[in-house]
Amino acid sequence: MIILGFESSCDETGVALVCTERGVLAHTLHTQVAMHAAYGGVVPELASRDHVRRIIGLTRSALTQASLELSDVDAVAYTAGPGLAGALLVGAGVAQSIAWSLDKPAFGIHHLEGHLLSPRLADPKPEFPFVALLVSGGHTQLMLVKGVGDYEMLGETLDDAAGEAFDKTAKLMGLGYPGGPALARLAESGEPDRFDLPRPLLNRGGLDFSFSGLKTAVMQRVKGLGGLDAMPDKDKADLAAATQAAIVDVLVAKSLLALRQTKARRLVVAGGVGANQRLRSRLLAETSQRRLEVFFPPVALCTDNGAMIAYAAAERVNAGLLHAHGPSDLFDIKPRWPLDDIQARPGVPGE
Ligand code: ATP
Ligand code: MG
Ligand code: FE
Repeated sequence: MIILGFESSCDETGVALVCTERGVLAHTLHTQVAMHAAYGGVVPELASRDHVRRIIGLTRSALTQASLELSDVDAVAYTAGPGLAGALLVGAGVAQSIAWSLDKPAFGIHHLEGHLLSPRLADPKPEFPFVALLVSGGHTQLMLVKGVGDYEMLGETLDDAAGEAFDKTAKLMGLGYPGGPALARLAESGEPDRFDLPRPLLNRGGLDFSFSGLKTAVMQRVKGLGGLDAMPDKDKADLAAATQAAIVDVLVAKSLLALRQTKARRLVVAGGVGANQRLRSRLLAETSQRRLEVFFPPVALCTDNGAMIAYAAAERVNAGLLHAHGPSDLFDIKPRWPLDDIQARPGVPGE
């Protein structure tokens, strides 16, 4: 079965073709990062308009890449939520229209389920059960994934997400938007131990996170060093390295605790922060010491993309959790959509 998948929940337009037997056949992506950079964050109205501009061209490219025609598509999947309402509507509208024109089913997929299952696109593929560390721009969660549609929340951030912590500290260090990758790059030449930054909730037993205090601590350091303009490059690099180390330490410690508590042997990392090399190498070292396994999706699939949405639909089809049904309401989106809502039920909102 060939599934055409659309992602348009925020600032990436992603389109992909995934086969339920053969995996990803093609995926195309346009990121709006450069467009929003001038505003220091995502402007929802601009995001929606840009999705409209790109989505058909990306669909054509994906079909060309896979040497397929639209008529070869057996089902259409789209991100139904959570996300920006206007942006979601573009993907939902296009997906539902294509499905309707082909007389094929359309499946609304939960964005986070896409992130959660995307590590299974990697080779080797993590088998269930696993603990998922979902670290993206909007979410920081530890989840026990027992199977497709069977997710147990173990802990989450009480305030900022890990990606947000990267982005906000990067912004106050003058690194632009989104700052995560820029901060990670700057950190490469810095010493992580020169500045002592807080590791929030590290020594409290639970699996929740809190990152909002970190940016305040970084801000104080910047002030203490005479302000950004007075700081030599070395100071900036050291502070970036300390920030990255603080975030990574907390993520690593809580992930290991989650593995211990659930007795799971596999950890899977999903979401944009999963591209962070320090996080990757620390997790690899710590898990191999304990004879545990860690899996990462390919870096290109860590951030938002259409392949994870088409793939989540494929996993649901293979698990018998999506039943073919015709397209329903064009406006079937859920800007706010708790993951608990999709437990082992069809991933179509409103059902
Ligand atoms: P959500 O999925 O929660 O709605 P999102 O889709 O914006 O959020 P992703 O696209 O998964 O999130 O990831 C984007 C985040 O990943 C940004 O915060 C970005 O700074 C961060 N990020 C990307 N690469 C790196 C890196 N190498 N190091 C640290 N952070 C990174
Ligand atoms: Mg994004
Ligand atoms: Fe995302």
